[in-house]
Amino acid sequence: MPQAQSPAVVNPLDNPFESMMYRFDEASKCIELNEAIYNLLKNPVKQIIVSLPISLDDGSIKTFEGYRIIHSNVLGPSKGGIRYDINVSLDEVKALAAWMTWKCAIVDIPYGGAKGGIKCNPKNMSANEIERLTRAYTLAMMDIFGPNKDIPAPDMGTGPREMAWLMDEYAKAHGSTEYAVVTGKPILLGGCLGRVEATGRGVMIATLAALDQLKMNSYNTTIAIQGFGNVGSHAAHLLMERGGKIVAISDISGAYYNPQGIDIPAAMQYVKNNHGSLDNFAQAEKITAEALFSLPVDVLIPAATENVITKHNANKIQAKLIVEGANGPTSASADKIIHEKGILVVPDILANAGGVIVSYFEWIQNKVGYSWTLERIKRRSDRMLKDAFAMVYKTAQQKKVSMRIAAYILAIEKVAKTYQYRGKF
Ligand code: GLU
Repeated sequence: MPQAQSPAVVNPLDNPFESMMYRFDEASKCIELNEAIYNLLKNPVKQIIVSLPISLDDGSIKTFEGYRIIHSNVLGPSKGGIRYDINVSLDEVKALAAWMTWKCAIVDIPYGGAKGGIKCNPKNMSANEIERLTRAYTLAMMDIFGPNKDIPAPDMGTGPREMAWLMDEYAKAHGSTEYAVVTGKPILLGGCLGRVEATGRGVMIATLAALDQLKMNSYNTTIAIQGFGNVGSHAAHLLMERGGKIVAISDISGAYYNPQGIDIPAAMQYVKNNHGSLDNFAQAEKITAEALFSLPVDVLIPAATENVITKHNANKIQAKLIVEGANGPTSASADKIIHEKGILVVPDILANAGGVIVSYFEWIQNKVGYSWTLERIKRRSDRMLKDAFAMVYKTAQQKKVSMRIAAYILAIEKVAKTYQYRGKF
């Protein structure tokens, strides 16, 4: 008998992998992609599922499931973060891995795409338990990871701390320290200046570039940001510094709205003092998480997780511009509605590429053993994002498609051409 499905998969286009494939199909049709290459790109190169038993602090043993999906490694070693979240699933990681392939191709860095994940709830685990889990995962992936093979990085639920443990476990197994095996490390361990805020910074650059196309600027532009983690909070802060008025922010505790504008450094400090949550944040009116999407604002920035904009709420969006700080925040079922409403969307694979660009800089510095200044890092990453934005925007105009489909077209064309150059199978 068929089992009841969770809401996330009721509409196939609300499943992240199906959503990704839908856009991939559309872009492939636009460029009449060769069928063999289509089939090749449709399937990840490698899919690894591991079982990770670790002892918990109370002495019991718990087994977690971990994944690493390498979607493509034709442009170079595969690259992509590791997610710790209770909703991690194989389909999600597959979609996220493919998005990394397209993301790296668009911003022109020599990487393929990968993603990893562990189904766990890090908020309910001690630092010791998370460390044991990270080390067990690294050990299980020892033959997969490598500075010229597959290079992990942080994603939702992970950060410099986990990357340090990963690097250390890898070093122990190899008998030598290899900084370039992972990016997003603490600065002292070969991390890169500006890496923590890099994704948020990229979102800011993409927002300014898009506002320019709309003949607007950041001054007094009203902005709602869904998600106040690493991406959302830094994007909010950087946009505020450029005159933007952040009128709404949200996290798992709810959404907070203040039409006069929210003091973002104060909100960031509040979260720091309040165990990482905006709960009871008094400088703004509390609204429902869903209400944030329909606020009368100029810009909407989803910066949390997948599928928050669907055909159920797309119609209510009043923003003129959506900048996707998260991976896959808009389900394929909402694309058409948004397009018909004339809203400009800067797609995830472009808007949040600032993180992987600075990861690439970290990897280069680790390989040559030399550190760049923050000034150089910002200048180069801003330039790369602006160039990628201009390319995608121009392609969208020329081909009369959305920026999302234009981004997929450029990425798929690049990967397909690389296959042709690399030769026969
Ligand atoms: N997890 C980030 C992303 O989704 C960064 C990946 C990386 O730096 O390799 O883009």
